[in-house]
Amino acid sequence: ETNPRTELLNALPLREDLRGKSPYGAPQLEVPVTLNTNENTHPVPTEVQQAIVEEVSMAALNLNRYPDREFTELREELAAYLGQGLGPENLWAANGSNEILQQLMQAFGGPGRSVLSFVPTYSMYPILAAGTNTEFIAGQRAADFTLSPESAAAQVREHKPSIVILCSPNNPTGTALEDDVVDAVYQAGEASNSIVIVDEAYAEFARNPATTALSLLPGRPRLVVTRTMSKAFALAGARIGYFAAAAEIADAIRLVRLPYHLSAVSQATALAALRHRSSLLADVEDIKMQRDRIVDELKRLGLQPSESDSNFVFFGGDFDAPALWQELLSRGILIRDVGIAGHLRVTAGTEEETTAFLEAVETHLTR
Ligand code: PMP
Repeated sequence: ETNPRTELLNALPLREDLRGKSPYGAPQLEVPVTLNTNENTHPVPTEVQQAIVEEVSMAALNLNRYPDREFTELREELAAYLGQGLGPENLWAANGSNEILQQLMQAFGGPGRSVLSFVPTYSMYPILAAGTNTEFIAGQRAADFTLSPESAAAQVREHKPSIVILCSPNNPTGTALEDDVVDAVYQAGEASNSIVIVDEAYAEFARNPATTALSLLPGRPRLVVTRTMSKAFALAGARIGYFAAAAEIADAIRLVRLPYHLSAVSQATALAALRHRSSLLADVEDIKMQRDRIVDELKRLGLQPSESDSNFVFFGGDFDAPALWQELLSRGILIRDVGIAGHLRVTAGTEEETTAFLEAVETHLTR
C-alpha cells in the first residue's frame, strides 16, 4: 500500500527512528459479520446501557471540572472485581490496555533499554516500543507456537531486557500460559531487574478460570498483570484498560501519565459497567461456547485450530489461507490474516455470526 503523502512526510523533521515505520492498521470495513479484531460481538445488555447512560449523565453535570486524577472509586471497584487480596493502591487504569502498556514502556523502557516478547504475539508491542524509543527484541517460540519455561527463561537471561511481555492468552494464537512460565521468566529476570508484564486482555475467556498470573503478584514486586474492559466487558469503544501490581509500580506510572488522562466520562462508564458485571459476564459464557464450537467444527472439517483460552481461534491446516480470507470477505465475513503463512484468526461471534462463518468455511473447503 503506497501512501500518497510519503514524500511530504519524509520532508518533515520526523524522528529518524520512526522513518519508514507503519502505523497499526487492522482494516475497519463495513461488513455484516466483523470477526477480525477480537471485539466482543455481543451488544452491551440493555440494563448495562441504561446504567452507563445514568452514570455518564451525572458526570456531565460536573464536566466543567477536571476529573478525579486518581480515579479512586474506579480503582476500588477494579480491586473488588479482581479479588486476590488486592487493594486500590495495587490498581491503575488508562485509556485501553494499549495506553497502560505505553505508560509502562515510558516508565521502564526508553532509549538504551529493551523489551522482549515472544513472537508471534500482539502486533502493538513493537509499535509501542518504537514510539517510546525502546529496542524491541523478538523472542522465539517452538514451531507449534508454545513457550516452555526453560526456553523463555534462557531468552531472558540472554537478552537481559528492561521489560518482558508475556501475552496470556496469547494473541494471535489464543492459548494461555501456565504459571510456571511466568515464574521462570520472573526468576530469570532477577539478575537484570526486569519488569515482567503479563498481558491478560483475554483472561476472562480462559477454559480454566484459575489461569491468571494475579495469584503470583504477592512477593513479586516487578510483576505487572494488565487487563482490559474491551473484551469480556464489551466496552472496546469506551477505552478502559488497567493493571494490578505492587503499589510502587503505580507510583512509577504517576511520573509519566498525563494529568487527568482518564476522563470523567470514561470513569463513569467503567464504574457503571463494573457494577453491572453479572449480566456482561453472562455473555462471556456464550462466547466461550461459540469459541469451542469453532474449534470443534474446524477440526471436523480437517483444519488444525489451536486450543483457545480467548474469544478467538487461530487455525492452520491444508488450505489456501488468502483464498479463504477473500472468499469469506466476498460473503460479508471479515476475519484476520495475521501474516503467518497458512494460518488465519477468527473472533468468536454471536451464534448467528459463528454459524455464518462456519458454513462459509465448509462451503469453501468442500467445493
Ligand atoms: N493486549 C492484547 C493481547 C490485545 O489483543 C489487545 C486488543 N486487540 C490489547 C492488549 C489492547 O486492547 P485495549 O487497548 O482495547 O484494552
